Amino acid sequence: MWAELAITATMVVPDERTLVTDFSFTPEVGLPGAQGRTGTIHTPHGNIKTPAFIAVGTKATVKAVRPEDVSELGAQAVLANAYHLYLQPGCDIVDEAGGLGAFMNWPGPTFTDSGGFQVMSLGVGFKKVLAMDTVGLTNDDVIAEGKNRLAHVDDDGVTFTSHIDGSKHRFTPEESMRIQHELGADIMFAFDECTTLMNTRGYQERSLERTYAWALRCLSAHERLTQSRAHRPYQALFGVVQGAQYEDLRRRAARELAAAEVDGRSFDGFGIGGALEKENLGTIVGWVNEELPDDKPRHLLGISEPDDFFAAIAAGADTFDCVMPSRVARNAALYTPDGRFNLPRAENRRAFRPIDEDCDCYTCANYTRAYLFHLFKAKEMLASTLATIHNERFTVRLVDDIRASIESGDFDAFRTEFLGRFYASKGRPQS
Ligand SMILES: [Zn+2]
Repeated sequence: MWAELAITATMVVPDERTLVTDFSFTPEVGLPGAQGRTGTIHTPHGNIKTPAFIAVGTKATVKAVRPEDVSELGAQAVLANAYHLYLQPGCDIVDEAGGLGAFMNWPGPTFTDSGGFQVMSLGVGFKKVLAMDTVGLTNDDVIAEGKNRLAHVDDDGVTFTSHIDGSKHRFTPEESMRIQHELGADIMFAFDECTTLMNTRGYQERSLERTYAWALRCLSAHERLTQSRAHRPYQALFGVVQGAQYEDLRRRAARELAAAEVDGRSFDGFGIGGALEKENLGTIVGWVNEELPDDKPRHLLGISEPDDFFAAIAAGADTFDCVMPSRVARNAALYTPDGRFNLPRAENRRAFRPIDEDCDCYTCANYTRAYLFHLFKAKEMLASTLATIHNERFTVRLVDDIRASIESGDFDAFRTEFLGRFYASKGRPQS
């Protein structure tokens, strides 16, 4: 796929400048009676067949594995984190290296998120939840142990404290765009305010207005940076739809972002962000996608559970990312078609068989559960590598199989069969 050339689309704006846009999305097969579809995202670094799971490489590495492994396990793109790379090593260094892909030796498409979620959560030490609206909450609800400072969100941006050295920083929409342009990923996200289900309806409304104002500022900064960095490949910008669990807010946010245009530049795609209750996930994604244009891709941030993939894909989401498959792998939790299980159980000590007989990954082709059991017990680094390869492959393959089921007209049957088996043994110990 590296060799495929991106389609170049250009359009003329009123002042007759030509906007460079080496980015497009082609919808392909639709899911009958639903919003789901297959498609292809074209980027300057290759194509992404959708629906697709994007591997997370937070700090410009998918933890414990080489880029060659990431490619071999079928991941089509990698998503890194603007907040982390801004603090370390610094986006100027990534820029000097030729951008994120060149820096980390990943030749395919790349994404960066805006850093918004991190500066409003990890960076300031929120314990469990994001909560900018602290009325009715105690300090204990929002401040993690050993931390004494909240991120301060105002209409212009967010001031926050580095989790590395306690130094103070400020992100604004313009700063997020500057950082993401320097990081050089093919797909970037607009800087948004992340809220939680704990925020009041009134706060959600005010937050949405702020996020919309920030989205326009991102478009303006993005256009300016695109012009001044014309020597670099075009970077697409996705607007992020917030609005929590409220139908009117979600729809309004999607409509406004879809129509947003500054200096002739509009969003190339959309992210669906914010807190989503699992049981409403498909419904909320559906509201948003009914309002968004069909010819632009939609990324759902932060999901990896099989039932969530089916619900979100049926509702029209195209790409996904999540740290979960690799994070749990490093803790010896492995995915199989019969559910997730913890490897370090006595019955695996002499299990001279793969994690999953039907898995086509490098780990399952060459190693046994018994060997992995030993590696985890001995705290050997290879344990994380082999487990990550398997879990990432499981997740990428599931989304690829969902795409194939849409193409063959078997989506509903595949969903019933896969989820029936995966969740059949939930709550029961598995070997
Ligand atoms: Zn495997």
